[in-house]
Amino acid sequence: MTGLRNNLIILCLLWFAFITGSFYWNYTSAKIEQDKIAFQTAKSFFDLIVITREWNASHGGVYAPVTLETLPNPYLETPLRDIDANEQLTLTQINPAYMTRQIAEIAEEQNISFHLTSLDPIRPENSPGSKEKKALEAFEKGADERGEFIEENGKTVFFYMAPLRAEAECLQCHASQGYREGDIRGGLRVTIPFDASIPMTALLLGHIGIGLLGFIGIFTGGRRLGKAYNTIRKQATSDELTGVPNRRSLSERIAVELKRSYRDHEPLSLIMIDIDYFKYFNDHYGHEQGDQCLTKVAREICHTIKRPGDFCARYGGEEFVVLLPGTSSAGAKRIAEEIRINIVKLEIPHIAALDNGVVTVSLGVATFEDYDAPSQDTLLYKADTALYQAKRQGRNRVACLDEGHYTQRDK
Ligand code: GH3
Ligand code: MG
Ligand code: MG
Repeated sequence: MTGLRNNLIILCLLWFAFITGSFYWNYTSAKIEQDKIAFQTAKSFFDLIVITREWNASHGGVYAPVTLETLPNPYLETPLRDIDANEQLTLTQINPAYMTRQIAEIAEEQNISFHLTSLDPIRPENSPGSKEKKALEAFEKGADERGEFIEENGKTVFFYMAPLRAEAECLQCHASQGYREGDIRGGLRVTIPFDASIPMTALLLGHIGIGLLGFIGIFTGGRRLGKAYNTIRKQATSDELTGVPNRRSLSERIAVELKRSYRDHEPLSLIMIDIDYFKYFNDHYGHEQGDQCLTKVAREICHTIKRPGDFCARYGGEEFVVLLPGTSSAGAKRIAEEIRINIVKLEIPHIAALDNGVVTVSLGVATFEDYDAPSQDTLLYKADTALYQAKRQGRNRVACLDEGHYTQRDK
């Protein structure tokens, strides 16, 4: 049973490790997935801006009416920057950079932030922040893009940045800075709000639920297994008819007690009990009555021995053995006599018995005191010889081949 309990504990620990591992794996996967989503979302914004810029550049810049919000771009040095369409309408050229800036202002209202920046900006507002500067430097060394969660004004946002390359149209303004087509001219930073929290409560409750179900399963299964194990063990170690331990468990018990007796220099007594004229009993009353008689005798023998260490077993057909650890020969004789009297007192009718008209037993007592040679066979043989003597002397009696030196039971 201890083995089964240990296995259950190991199983529980493995289950606990599995659930913890699953929780950790799910949590990490959710985090990676969130990173990917945030990255893709920010990159999509970036790509959209780049496409819009390409469209603008493909037209060599587009024109919009001059208003208070759209004043002519002071950094644009093209001859046709402003065109007077009529007295009320003046158009000004919107190049990709100006367009990006205006889109960024609209996006800002949605908490999405764009910033066109460069290590060498024409417009001072386009100077990079510290994070942007690091990214721009990395792009110069060949890095593709950057994306990470950052804290901004107490909120978690996703920071994405990728380089912008100089195209033919861009060189209208930037050629004076020494750029050639394809050079990294700067970068566009996109910051989007992103709720990076993982639904921990659901994840945790789900795992606790599954974990508990597993534990219940393990314990229920374990209990059933334990019961089945107990039943099988009982069947293997006890006698089916009488319910007392069988010969096999007697043998195991004698081996243990002999060792203990040898180690502690304590006597060990054994009583062999045999029902008198039992063949006649069966012949007269029938086998079924014989079985009932055996059960009653077995129960009575077990009731008579009282010490916790005492042991009673069915040895064979109508023979029983009582094992008495720490008991001298004289003490064992007394117990044997008690058993004999108690069986007589049962008053199980046995008219075929020659003497008393009731079932009686004969008993042979042996005591292990040969501390140099602990032997199960010798002890059993001595008890059997004593029993034979009791039979020969007339049955319904106790016989003992030797008297011991220990008298605990007599005290
Ligand atoms: P003695 O006084 O010399 O011991 O005579 P006995 O008749 O008891 O001895 P014997 O060994 O000749 O007979 C034992 C009998 O026990 C024979 C067998 O029919 C009976 N017996 C053995 N096992 C069982 C059992 O499980 N149930 C029943 N009913 N009888 C059994
Ligand atoms: Mg017999
Ligand atoms: Mg007999």
